[in-house]
Amino acid sequence: KLSKRLETVVSFIKPNMKIADIGSDHAYLPCYAVKKGIVPYAIAGEVVEGPYQSALKQVEAANLTDRISVRKGNGLEVLQSTDQVDCIVIAGMGGALITEILGAEKQKLASVSRLILQPNIAAEKVRKWLYEQNWQLVDERLIEEEGKYYEILVAEPGNPTLPYTNLSKEFLLGPYLLKKRNIHFKEKWQAELRIWEKVLQELNKAEKNEETEAKKAALIQKIKMVKEELI
Ligand code: SAM
Repeated sequence: KLSKRLETVVSFIKPNMKIADIGSDHAYLPCYAVKKGIVPYAIAGEVVEGPYQSALKQVEAANLTDRISVRKGNGLEVLQSTDQVDCIVIAGMGGALITEILGAEKQKLASVSRLILQPNIAAEKVRKWLYEQNWQLVDERLIEEEGKYYEILVAEPGNPTLPYTNLSKEFLLGPYLLKKRNIHFKEKWQAELRIWEKVLQELNKAEKNEETEAKKAALIQKIKMVKEELI
């Protein structure tokens, strides 16, 4: 059985898309998507030897070696233009790493009609990157699993400005998530606020210099923005 987090990611794969799951670890996601008949074929990319071996074993154990190609390499390096991948999934990493992977080989995105991204932290960075690189955010989900909150972002080539009315606020909170405000929205941001307020207290205790002052100002601004949306 797949985690709720990965199941939600899978729910955004359109039937028959050719997918690549980058940073696949055990290749749970591609195995599930192929077994369920959602996609006929998948590529699992993994850069670290241990997880790469786990992916190979998992795919063999599931008898899917003819339908899932497990490849070792850094980010999009594992993709060839002949692969003609329609959909790239990157889940379970930080937002900065996700944008680094996508940005390192942009030409590999030429055939791609959908990105499904699940940043564990810094979704803000991912939204901003998509916007700047002309990807239109087309949907978002906020889910809770075992006390953790996860954001799933879906993007397609298109008009990147469409979902936004207030960039700084919506990069942070998510334009669709902000509109929907599901049951987890308030909880998630209240938890973030508690962390930020602690960080702010620490910064207030720290030696005053340009760097801490800039950090404080940025944090105060974020706290204000989020608080405005929670009342
Ligand atoms: N995608 C799976 C999920 O969401 O459950 C696994 C997430 S796991 C926390 C992150 C995986 O990404 C690790 O197995 C790590 O080795 C891999 N990874 C990190 N940087 C990578 C890169 N540049 N290219 C490919 N894989 C990478």
